[in-house]
Amino acid sequence: MIAKTAGRTAVVTGGASGIGRAIAERLSADGHRVATLDLHPSGESGYKADVTDRAQIDEALAGIRREFGPVTILVNAAGRDGFKRFAKLSFEEWEQIVDVNLHGTFHCIQAVLPDMLEAGWGRIVNISSSSTHSGQPFMAHYVAAKSAVNGLTKALALEFGPKGITVNAIPPGFVDTPMLRGAAERGLLGGTVEDHIGRTPVRRVGLPEDIAAAASFFASEEAGYITGQILGVNGGRNT
Ligand code: NAP
Repeated sequence: MIAKTAGRTAVVTGGASGIGRAIAERLSADGHRVATLDLHPSGESGYKADVTDRAQIDEALAGIRREFGPVTILVNAAGRDGFKRFAKLSFEEWEQIVDVNLHGTFHCIQAVLPDMLEAGWGRIVNISSSSTHSGQPFMAHYVAAKSAVNGLTKALALEFGPKGITVNAIPPGFVDTPMLRGAAERGLLGGTVEDHIGRTPVRRVGLPEDIAAAASFFASEEAGYITGQILGVNGGRNT
């Protein structure tokens, strides 16, 4: 019989909006102490940090450890999309997207690992993207960064499995958040959000809570035999 996980300290990056916010609310409902990291934090346990800046992350984590104790659950949801023809993409634009989506994940994992190693228990959940399954035109920088997040997930799962730490990724499909609505408004989705419903096998747009349910499971005690997995939550649409 596996005991239920409760009362751990969780950090969710990008927790002020969309998917990150839903994950933070779900982990809190699961009984965890939850702090969020974001550029524009919200709520009492929202901490300000740019995930591309290690010093800011370390400072925020020091406050979180003081308030809530060692961090043994980390969900990396902070991210930024990008749309540009590859031939016109500057290296600076490439770097900005890789920096947030990949390097931000690197920094946050490295910054919380000492707590997990000390506890001999940890759960890391990385939010990548369903665009990693089949690619996405005009999003080379984003797809490359998110594909690297999937690779990082698999490599770290092998390295830290023996230490009691699992590492899994969720590549979401089309999820109704400010990021997706913003892309639709800029005419970058090839139609409206609703137009995508007909192309999705379960015939609805994804909700942040759909991603939160999977993240909650990966963060649980019961998921301890699952690591290095990339779980598409996309209504059956691997694009
Ligand atoms: P969202 O509503 O825009 O939320 C992302 C959050 O991350 C925002 O609060 C944003 O802050 C924050 N953030 C951005 N850059 C940051 C940085 N450098 N440091 C700290 N926080 C930062 O987007 P979402 O749709 O929930 O996306 C969450 C994750 O899911 C992202 O990794 C995204 O790539 C991934 N995803 C989303 C979809 C989808 O359909 N929505 C599909 C596939 C993957 P600001 O708003 O202040 O910039």
